[in-house]
Amino acid sequence: MHFTGTVYRNPYWETFPLLQITRGCTHNKCKFCTMYSDVTFKMQPIEEHYCCA
Ligand code: SF4
Repeated sequence: MHFTGTVYRNPYWETFPLLQITRGCTHNKCKFCTMYSDVTFKMQPIEEHYCCA
C-alpha cells in the first residue's frame, strides 16, 4: 500500500491496515497542532485507495 507523509495513529490500532484517503488537514489552523503545518491538503488519487494485487 502506498502511503505518503507522517502517520499519526492511535497506538491501540497499530495492527490495523491503513487506507490513506487524504493527506494533510483541510483546516490546519488549530493553535495547538503542528501535525500538518508543513503539508498542503490533498486528496489521494482514487487508484491509490484500493490495494489489489
Ligand atoms: S487539530 Fe490539527 S489536524 Fe486536527 S483539525 Fe486542527 S489543525 Fe487539523
